[in-house]
Amino acid sequence: MQIPDRDTTIHRQLVDGLTDHAIYMLDLEGHILSWSAGAERLTGYAEREAIGAPVTMLHELGPPPAEVLAGARQYGRHEGRVWRRRKDGGCFPAYSVTEAVFDATRLTGFAVVERECGETWRNDHARLAERQFRLLFEGVTVYAILMLDRDGRVTSSNPGVAAIEGYAPDEIIGRHFSIFYGPLDRGRGRPEETLRCAREHGRHQAEGWRYRRDGTAFWATVIVMPIREHGHLIGYAQITRDMTRRKEHENEILKAKRAAEHRYRESRSMSGFLDNVIGNIPIRVLVEDSQTGQILMDNAARSASSTAPAIDADTIVRRLRGRAAKTLDDDEIREMRIGIDTAEGAVRLKCRVMRVNEDAGGAANLMYLVEDVTEEHRAHEKIHFMAHHDALTHLPNRTLFNKRLGQALKAAEYDDTSVGLLLIDLDNFKNINDVLGHPVGDQLLIQVACRLRAALGDAAMLARIGGDEFCVVLPHCSNVGELEAVARRLIADMHAPLVVGEHVVQSGVSIGLVLSSADADNTEELLRCADLALYDAKRGGKGTCSVFHPELHRAARQRLEIETDMRRAYDADEFVLYYQPIMDSDRLTVSGMEALLRWHHPERGVVPPLEFIPVAEETGLIRAIGARVLMRACAEAANWRGEATIAVNLSTVQFDDHALVDHVRDALSSSGLAPHRLELEITESILLDASRNNIRLLEALKALGVKIVLDDFGTGYSSLHYLRSFAFDRIKIDKSFVKEICHDAEAQAIVKAIITLGHSLQIQITAEGVEHIDQATRLRSDGCSHLQGFYFGRPEEQASAALTAPLEQSG
Ligand code: C2E
Ligand code: CA
Ligand code: CA
Repeated sequence: MQIPDRDTTIHRQLVDGLTDHAIYMLDLEGHILSWSAGAERLTGYAEREAIGAPVTMLHELGPPPAEVLAGARQYGRHEGRVWRRRKDGGCFPAYSVTEAVFDATRLTGFAVVERECGETWRNDHARLAERQFRLLFEGVTVYAILMLDRDGRVTSSNPGVAAIEGYAPDEIIGRHFSIFYGPLDRGRGRPEETLRCAREHGRHQAEGWRYRRDGTAFWATVIVMPIREHGHLIGYAQITRDMTRRKEHENEILKAKRAAEHRYRESRSMSGFLDNVIGNIPIRVLVEDSQTGQILMDNAARSASSTAPAIDADTIVRRLRGRAAKTLDDDEIREMRIGIDTAEGAVRLKCRVMRVNEDAGGAANLMYLVEDVTEEHRAHEKIHFMAHHDALTHLPNRTLFNKRLGQALKAAEYDDTSVGLLLIDLDNFKNINDVLGHPVGDQLLIQVACRLRAALGDAAMLARIGGDEFCVVLPHCSNVGELEAVARRLIADMHAPLVVGEHVVQSGVSIGLVLSSADADNTEELLRCADLALYDAKRGGKGTCSVFHPELHRAARQRLEIETDMRRAYDADEFVLYYQPIMDSDRLTVSGMEALLRWHHPERGVVPPLEFIPVAEETGLIRAIGARVLMRACAEAANWRGEATIAVNLSTVQFDDHALVDHVRDALSSSGLAPHRLELEITESILLDASRNNIRLLEALKALGVKIVLDDFGTGYSSLHYLRSFAFDRIKIDKSFVKEICHDAEAQAIVKAIITLGHSLQIQITAEGVEHIDQATRLRSDGCSHLQGFYFGRPEEQASAALTAPLEQSG
């Protein structure tokens, strides 16, 4: 604000003359611009100290300066009582008038005129305040208010002190305020510290236990303030409030809070625990929002287990959703297995789906528990394969064969066709196995399986149902001709030799065939029929096939009857030996006898050996019968005079039994027959089944001193070859050659060759089945050493007669 120069002096004199008044000018911001002598006298500030200082410097009580200026600005003037502060810290009440100063149109500042208000006002004011304070001090009972002197002794108390702390005013006045503290706090100097804090900071507030007159404690909030007069400490005011109830309440809240926190921590640790569990269980856990299809949870990232598949959750859920949806309605747990192709290969998953509710009445979601069961599945598949396939050839085994045959039969019934069944038996397998060993046998089976498989079409099912038994199922087979064609093809294919390691093995097959029909419409029956047909095929000779016909059933029944009957006959001693003479062809005398078995059947009469020996061989009864034959024949021969030999026929089956050598030895020793008089006749089938074992047995027999004869020579395949495998004592030319010898040049040539060979090997030759003199004559001229046949004598029950009187040459 600019004050014109010419007026300055007058104004100054005027203003400074009013010494009871403080007169000063302020700029718009409230800074002091001029300072009168009265202002200096009242406030104690010199002009140089005041000029430029803010007016707030003077403010003690009353409306704030900013408010005053704002009022003056708005209304042009503001007046009222205020308290002003002096430079020395003291203050005084003043009546203040603030005028807005305008320069033409603009507000330029404020002019302030103040005068100290007299003692009157001050006393009035003090009395009023005193009264108000008294009312407050005495009317209040919720606060215990004490006035203390500077040492902390009580100078006055309000009714609250009695109410809260139990002290009447006369009991407490003069006491030190530390009586409200407990001994511990007192010992620590708390009361003194409280006063010091209040003094230094203008106020001290604390909470703690305080004690009533009766010694009971209460929880108190205590405020202590210093009381000053003219800047000097004259004492303290202490305001105490009983907070016990609130404290209790707080404690309850605190307790509840702690409990809640505990529960929260627990639930948090529980959910953390569950998180951990879910993250570590070896199962993929997926939760799908059933409404949106969104995956809400997936533990894939956390689950390190290999059994929790690392497949995209959507891919899994998409595959399951259709069937899983039902779970939302019926609340059942569904189990499903699915296969998913991944870059690492096909993965097999076991999935359980169940409904999970977010909360009571909340939305239902679907939880999928997914396990990778690929390994398990593979193992199961392997076990399944192993249970249904033969470990050696990998062909279906009997179990699977039965199943497939059953299925084929059902299908055939449905479309009105038949099922063809081929039962294939490997000829000589047992011997190959024995001679060349099991590893070679196994390799042979594998090769046979391959060759059979190759020979059959895709429509046929090949199975291995036993050691060397294979089976073929031909579904939708219309006639037996079709079946036979397949069998013949197989037989032809199997005829070619197989190379197993360093061995070349010739192993043909025999096949039994059957076509399903109304009579044979189940697996068991069909197999039984095929078995009978196979039996028939083998009887007809190896490498052949035979079709089942009902007659085989009858024959089988008969065999069964014979078998039972034979056991009875053995016990009843119905087997009797007949003896047929064998002639020395030079002297035409009986050189020995062949023992030939007959069955004296009580109903059927005399049964020839060919009708019962095959059955006895099948059942094994031939062993017992054979042993008895040996005993009887030796005992009989021991009674003969002279050196006549006794020939006993041995069955191949008897060679399976290691007791054979013992039986022969026993027969010799118990009869006392000289070993060289016993001739054992074997057929080349023993050599064909030629295990080393059989040769060894033959050698063991020969070591006993008995003679070994090769019977039925010429009927087999490679008889000459067998002659080299063992040192036979005699060969018997089969009667089929003898029969043809007189009118078949080839038969004659063969017989001649055999005799020549026998000579060169120094083996005696017997020709059997000699029925005519012509035959005898020819054989004698060809150099055959012995002759046997009806021409010289039929088998008779009594042998001794022929031996007592040598036969005369007849004709
Ligand atoms: P095999 O060893 O070849 O016996 C010779 C067979 O020829 C006997 O038949 C005999 O009666 C018959 N036979 C002899 N001379 C003539 C003839 O001139 N013309 C004709 N057509 N046949 C003649 P059998 O007694 O019926 O015996 C048949 C087969 O039974 C024997 O053939 C032999 O392999 C077997 N066999 C007989 N007895 C026994 C025995 O005790 N044990 C064993 N394992 N087999 C026996
Ligand atoms: Ca014989
Ligand atoms: Ca013979």
